Amino acid sequence: MLAVNDVFAVYDGAITALEQVSLSIGPGSLVALLGPNGAGKTTLLKAIVGMLPFERGEVTAGDILFEGASVRGCHPAVVSRRGIALVQDGRQCFRELSIAENLRAASLVSRQGAADRFEMVLHYFPFLKEMLDRPAGVLSGGQLQMLVIGMAIMSKPKLLMLDEPSLGLSPVMVQSVFDVVERLHREAGLTVIVAEQTVPRLLKLATDVYVVSRGRIVMHAPPSEMTEERLQRIYLN
Ligand code: ATP
Repeated sequence: MLAVNDVFAVYDGAITALEQVSLSIGPGSLVALLGPNGAGKTTLLKAIVGMLPFERGEVTAGDILFEGASVRGCHPAVVSRRGIALVQDGRQCFRELSIAENLRAASLVSRQGAADRFEMVLHYFPFLKEMLDRPAGVLSGGQLQMLVIGMAIMSKPKLLMLDEPSLGLSPVMVQSVFDVVERLHREAGLTVIVAEQTVPRLLKLATDVYVVSRGRIVMHAPPSEMTEERLQRIYLN
């Protein structure tokens, strides 16, 4: 479904953030993209959705294929229409707009079937039902994380990518977020990539693990071969 082939990426024409990164993700996978702070996880996700040029960055070599066709150099709106959604860290939404308005705005990418997807979001995040007319700004950190995942679903993705969804959340909220990620993968059939530093729960859910360090993929293994100790050793290197 997604093939990243020997991708290099730089910021400001000089700072190399990705070096010869390759990964291959089949439909129906739930991939854990792990790595320490500054390893290049966010850069890789932004490279896939075409967002690097907005950060004075660029993919300088390699290719990114989605369903067999290159998305390298495509505008994020085009990549989104092709079926890749990125939930960025920072829980980006319009906090002064209502929850319903945020969900509708997110459906502008693909209007077809928007009503069904709205129902799907409320099915996975039932607490939003009671709050549809409230401004998004009233939500707690965990609830906001769920709203932005809901907004991503409104864009009708085949591949859903989440950048550090656990950041700043309580352990109970992290559990709830990962419960929903698991159901979206298992029940709704979404292919998922989750970038995190370390989340033991993610290792239990993942079908595939890639580890990034200093801009390179340093390991690709099934989750059964990836222990927290092994990860820590890679992180400390
Ligand atoms: P984190 O867990 O902190 O999000 P990460 O694995 O997502 O880390 P990136 O944010 O992709 O890592 O950063 C990779 C490298 O690129 C780091 O050295 C970082 O300093 C650098 N970098 C990231 N964004 C920019 C930018 N906008 N301009 C210049 N350098 C950047």
